[in-house]
Amino acid sequence: METFDIAIIGSGPAGMTAGLYAARAGLNAAIFERISPGGQLAQTEHLENYPGFPQGSGGFELAWSMHEQATNFGVKTITEEVTAVDFTQNPKLLTTAFGEYLAKSVVVATGARPRKLGIAREEELQGRGVSYCATCDGNFFRGKKVAVVGGGNTAVADAIYLSRICEKVYLIHRRDQLRATAIYHDRLKAIENIEFVWDSVVTELHDENGALSGVTVKNVKTEEQKQLDIAGLFVAVGTQPNTEFLQGALDLDETGYIVADETGKTAIPGVYAAGDVRTKQLRQVVTAVADGALCAEEAAEYLSE
Ligand code: NAP
Repeated sequence: METFDIAIIGSGPAGMTAGLYAARAGLNAAIFERISPGGQLAQTEHLENYPGFPQGSGGFELAWSMHEQATNFGVKTITEEVTAVDFTQNPKLLTTAFGEYLAKSVVVATGARPRKLGIAREEELQGRGVSYCATCDGNFFRGKKVAVVGGGNTAVADAIYLSRICEKVYLIHRRDQLRATAIYHDRLKAIENIEFVWDSVVTELHDENGALSGVTVKNVKTEEQKQLDIAGLFVAVGTQPNTEFLQGALDLDETGYIVADETGKTAIPGVYAAGDVRTKQLRQVVTAVADGALCAEEAAEYLSE
């Protein structure tokens, strides 16, 4: 069984940067990835707040550039989902569907996934009108009416993206104020085919022949209900960390994020957490890459001791 100096679980910006820094530090590094590199970044249409790109950058393109850069320095990518870990032994043990791997140090950078609304028929209609990724699925609703749920940066970016390809976009938010960054507010107001549905939550999903045909929304202040006829519902109500496989192995906070300090150190020597998966103030690509670099640096120091 091959023993890596450092195993990085997850290949979003945090994982790929950890790989880049680890390889440049001369470590034998492997990144474990479930499907394809890039994480949430690869599903982001356009970024305006990653420094160095005055015209902005496509998320997919930036993700692939990060992957290429890490690979050029010798990081190995193993396309296998890590399903279990044993951090009580040294080297640490990672289990995937295809085998077992040993690593002297580990960086967990598994990121987060979209949170669900938790209403009836949501799972049944996923892929049949209910979506969690506007840039992946928006094109299926070209020229149609759709709705986005949420008031954060993702919801607003999704609404702006969809307004360019759909006939109309309802933005359904449970309060009367957006959580999204101020720069988005004026942009939204200037887009004619976005209609705000304030103080409202989606209570029911309706279908015709198994495909979404509309939703019932309830105003949480007046209790008034109304139906919106839409072909697509894009849910953007936040994220939840991909940490289920770590239960019992690492300290998680009450919402499932890995408890780690600003250098990524967890309570277990040689195990680090980077990017959206850890407790932190600001979840952005720029903070994820910084985390990746710090974790690789910490791991290199740990290995040299
Ligand atoms: P978020 O900032 O946590 O926003 C989630 C939104 O969904 C909030 O408006 C919240 O309402 C609403 N919500 C939560 N649960 C709900 C429910 N059950 N029903 C209805 N609405 C619900 O999540 P996000 O927008 O996915 O962003 C995640 C992180 O990525 C953030 O740190 C964000 O800044 C970052 N991000 C940044 C950019 C960018 O910089 N351009 C783009 C995308 C994401 P309340 O407001 O009432 O809580």
